[in-house]
Amino acid sequence: MYFDSHTHLNSPQLFKNYKKYLENFKNIWWEKLVNVWVDYERTQRALEIHDKFPNTCLSTWGFHPTEPIFKYKKWKYEFKDNQLISWQEYLSLAKEYLENLIKNKKIVAIWECGIDYHYFEHLQEWQNIEEIKKQQKELFTMQLNLCKKYNLPIVIHSRDAFIDTLEIIKNYKELKIYFHCRGYGPEEITTLQTEFENLWVWFDGNITYKKAEEIRQSIKKCKLNQILLETDAPYLTPQIIRKEMNQPANVQYVYKYVSELLDINLDNLEKQIKENFYKYYNL
Ligand SMILES: [Zn+2]
Repeated sequence: MYFDSHTHLNSPQLFKNYKKYLENFKNIWWEKLVNVWVDYERTQRALEIHDKFPNTCLSTWGFHPTEPIFKYKKWKYEFKDNQLISWQEYLSLAKEYLENLIKNKKIVAIWECGIDYHYFEHLQEWQNIEEIKKQQKELFTMQLNLCKKYNLPIVIHSRDAFIDTLEIIKNYKELKIYFHCRGYGPEEITTLQTEFENLWVWFDGNITYKKAEEIRQSIKKCKLNQILLETDAPYLTPQIIRKEMNQPANVQYVYKYVSELLDINLDNLEKQIKENFYKYYNL
């Protein structure tokens, strides 16, 4: 029984044939998948999938930490038909938007928010790093507060900003935290484990890549009840079929690889991931 904790059936690449991809997923003995929304067009597609398959295709939404970098290149924002709005106005509209989705039970987690200093190389001359850091922290905190208010799990994206991310989430120890530690390794996992009781860590197809030794070391650091597996389809196709476009059914290769890597029977791994998935998403 397979769970894909993070996929993008709502992406332009997969959406056209999403029913076929769902069929493939069903054929490997599917259980549930989680569509992640990253922009407004994809939101509509994810909602369509969610409405057709409410029990199997769950959805999440969140304001990504790169929003203040990219969305604000021109200080335009979709909420107001591309009119210029201030940061504070943006922040309160973002909160309202997210809160509506939560109240209407459209999402099972806030995903993904956090701190990302990796993209600072894309900053325009007029953009101020300190100001953007401050905006990222405000956007992140707003979403952490909503998770606290509505008892929702959170998915944290952190890149080149471990210390700053940690400093903020230390104030939210009661939350269920799913950590996307792109670029971090076993050392950061150990720190997170000592700080957070309710911690889950994600692994996807790139754990199968030759150069992914650090990711393999990271999963070995995790307790079995902290692991969730995903495809991040259409990206990160597992090595065994690397040339193909990724799809949710390929989560089976991630399961198989992890079962061998951790030397755990595949049935037991499936049971454990199922338990982790239900516990994390409050199902
Ligand atoms: Zn993704």
